[in-house]
Amino acid sequence: LHSLHAAFEHDRLFVAYQPQVDLTSARPLGFEALMRWRDDKGEFIPPDRFIPLAEQSGLINGMGRWVLRSALRTLRRIHESGWTDLRMAVNVSVVQFQADDFVEDVALAIAESGLPPALVELEITESVAMTNATDVEAKLHALKALGVTIAIDDFGTGFSSLSYLDRLPIDRLKIDRSFVNNIGNGADGARIAEMIIGLGHKLDLTIIAEGIESEEQRTLLSELGCHEAQGFLFAKPLAADTLGQWLHDNAD
Ligand code: C2E
Ligand code: MG
Ligand code: MG
Repeated sequence: LHSLHAAFEHDRLFVAYQPQVDLTSARPLGFEALMRWRDDKGEFIPPDRFIPLAEQSGLINGMGRWVLRSALRTLRRIHESGWTDLRMAVNVSVVQFQADDFVEDVALAIAESGLPPALVELEITESVAMTNATDVEAKLHALKALGVTIAIDDFGTGFSSLSYLDRLPIDRLKIDRSFVNNIGNGADGARIAEMIIGLGHKLDLTIIAEGIESEEQRTLLSELGCHEAQGFLFAKPLAADTLGQWLHDNAD
């Protein structure tokens, strides 16, 4: 925690960006911002390890504000080089989401960036979205009123109330990597992914699958009606200064 504090203070955290693409055509749609920490010895510490620490200590609020602003600056540069229809997805921790000034801060960051709010996406995990509190629903509505889009991350790993899900103002479901991973493992490997895609279609939501690594997974998900994709098959998380080149090589 001490090292994380120091890393944050001394600008040793950075953001990587993983492309999101149209599943069938592989056309770029945008990026997901993913936080990275390289420690003093030059080793990467995975976000799954340092984000829980940051959440316990409250440091995540400052870090989250910083990631949002960095990601919007990056998207702004991408737009300035002509890719004006690409979006940026940013992960929101439960601690950030619960903060009283969260909606206000998102509004401020978007206003400062000058970007169209519709191209900013907030990723909220299923467990946060499904905390059946009137507060959550009201906050999601307030965020939607800013014009941003909302994705439910890690979908399928939590406990969704379907009637509640139907009521929430969300745009996209992200099929958790574990279900994509199962595709190719025997005859029934794809059945959870298939159910999520069916559910998404019924609820008029866009479906994005994360963690696609093989052509087999891509083909099957495409046949099942999944719309969008993110995964090593298309691209790993990339450094901010390589996105222009990646777009140049991968668009049309
Ligand atoms: P997530 O939001 O579900 O992000 C997707 C994770 O899947 C990323 O891991 C990404 O690198 C990984 N991934 C994508 N495609 C593939 C693939 O084809 N194969 C494999 N094996 N992995 C793939 P990462 O960057 O380690 O992040 C892990 C988690 O940490 C994220 O899961 C998210 O929950 C959290 N996280 C990362 N950055 C932030 C942040 O800025 N704020 C918050 N609150 N959480 C973050
Ligand atoms: Mg995410
Ligand atoms: Mg996820």
